[in-house]
Amino acid sequence: MARTFDHGGGVRSIRVPIPDNPLGYTLVYVLDTGRGPVLVDTGWDDAGSWDTLVAGLDACGTGVREVAGVVVTHHHPDHHGLCGRVREASGAWVAMHAADAAIVRRTREARPERWFAYMAAKLTAAGAPQEQVAPLRAAARGGRELPRFSPALPDREIVPGELLDLPGRRLRAIWTPGHTPGHVCLHLEERHPGELPGQGRLFSGDHMLPGITPHIGLYEDPDDATVTDPLGDYLDSLERVSLLGPAEVLPAHRHAFTDAPARVRELLDHHEERLRGLLALLATPLTPWQLAERMRWNRPWADIPPSSRTIAVSEAESHLRHLLKQGRVEQVPGSGPVAYAAV
Ligand SMILES: [Zn+2]
Ligand SMILES: [Zn+2]
Repeated sequence: MARTFDHGGGVRSIRVPIPDNPLGYTLVYVLDTGRGPVLVDTGWDDAGSWDTLVAGLDACGTGVREVAGVVVTHHHPDHHGLCGRVREASGAWVAMHAADAAIVRRTREARPERWFAYMAAKLTAAGAPQEQVAPLRAAARGGRELPRFSPALPDREIVPGELLDLPGRRLRAIWTPGHTPGHVCLHLEERHPGELPGQGRLFSGDHMLPGITPHIGLYEDPDDATVTDPLGDYLDSLERVSLLGPAEVLPAHRHAFTDAPARVRELLDHHEERLRGLLALLATPLTPWQLAERMRWNRPWADIPPSSRTIAVSEAESHLRHLLKQGRVEQVPGSGPVAYAAV
């Protein structure tokens, strides 16, 4: 299967595999500019993924040493992972929104033990059972070597609403928080090469994908007690993207698609339906953990491994946070761990 695709108008994509992941691959976009190719995202940091990216750039008639810059939609490793290697090979700049750059900095500086302690406390507060929390507590106590991650620090900031400095191209940063606090979409404000109706093309990262919905959890930050509403951010960001009316959407997974407003409506409907389903469950007071156990996932709760259960609870919490903000649920007084009930 061909791993590169020419989208026309100086935009190509490379399918960079994500090992052992049902998403399969990240679509890395190669944008021609007057100063050399600029990438939108890079792919997972893995030897095979790197080889595919390098071969893909060759197949696009350029090479990894020619890359002038990397625009990162968000800090997740299937997008940001290979930035460091690309920069080493080419001297390219790496640009990211300040909120996600702060997460990269924190990941590099924090001792993993602290993160495990934070997660253990958080899960306990959410009502998680002992067997879920015990391994995290053990990791937090140290005594064994924990993997350290050192994602590449970006050297440029993506400023919302501004055009990026790309000679010969009009690429505007659209801040779309929700999936991560610093997620950005990039709007290529140029005529569609196939003359499709609409306003240019949108690199949508994980904000908007065909057929699948991105994970919306809480913005976990051990150093910040601000009560954020990531799901509310996400829904607002969807509306913002719909108003742009792009002729075509170039997402980071799966395939390009048209009619962004229709996809936005589907996603908004999906979330409203899900919120209504949760309200029905919350006729009985539930902790976030109990709610996650009762929510519908892509497989039965019993088959979900502990690491994915942590992610599922975070998603349940982001929905509770949003319902709480809307006044549709309330915390049950005197409950510990805190339980929530529909108003
Ligand atoms: Zn992501
Ligand atoms: Zn992704």
